[in-house]
Amino acid sequence: MTASFPTEPAPWRATVLTLFPEMFPGPLGVSLAGRALGAGIWSLEARDIRASATDKHRSVDDTPAGGGPGMVLRADVLAAAIDAADIAPGRPRLLMSPRGRPLTQAVARELAAGPGPLIVCGRFEGVDQRVIDARELIEVSIGDYVLSGGEIAALVLIDACVRLLPGVMGKLESGNDESFSEGLLEYPQYTRPQLFEGHPIPDILTSGDHAKVAAWRRAQAEALTEARRPDLWAKWRDSQDREQRRTGQKAPKSTTDG
Ligand code: SAH
Repeated sequence: MTASFPTEPAPWRATVLTLFPEMFPGPLGVSLAGRALGAGIWSLEARDIRASATDKHRSVDDTPAGGGPGMVLRADVLAAAIDAADIAPGRPRLLMSPRGRPLTQAVARELAAGPGPLIVCGRFEGVDQRVIDARELIEVSIGDYVLSGGEIAALVLIDACVRLLPGVMGKLESGNDESFSEGLLEYPQYTRPQLFEGHPIPDILTSGDHAKVAAWRRAQAEALTEARRPDLWAKWRDSQDREQRRTGQKAPKSTTDG
């Protein structure tokens, strides 16, 4: 619902700041995202952070203040790289970071509905805190594990957004039924052959009764979510309860209204 502005002329744009620009578009150059990139539905700019280094060794990192292992991306170099990217004021500035706000389908939907983000990819032990604060970077995490750099995380984030852009997925509906879009995991899918190693497709799916198919899918989605993701299930139950109370309150009001 949020991602629908059909008359928007400017294509969605991702600007990535990285020490490894050769990693882009990488896997986003093929299939759904790649075709959309070729068609000009979105665009990608990968900028080398090292181009903003100023000393003769072109150094981008240094040892952590206070000691400890590894290296940290320098605030001055990264800030210069962000400033050189000259991002329009309305575009979100993100930093891929395990400490960040979790990337969810809702976050992807919000980002896809906007003009497209600037994405900073960290390396080594991370980036100097002062550049996060001074450039107001929003930290986003793709999960509770540590990657060796922000590039793969950025590819994940961009992929999740691009497939939601108008004209990227084949059918408009194919986004609405999916896992997370309603707060439930997706129901199981089947296709030909009708019989696979002795297992038939569930009868109901070949019955032609659309209402029964929809009810079966909903029941399956609920059962899967309850079994596998108690966290999502609890949230979904809450939202159903709220919806029931809301419609439950509305009903008597509308009868007295006439
Ligand atoms: N020392 C840091 C981890 C640095 S990993 C810490 O413990 O928090 C190096 C870079 O990889 C990070 O700066 C970030 O850009 C990226 N990265 C690692 N894990 C990530 C995750 N789960 N989500 C998003 N980016 C991640």
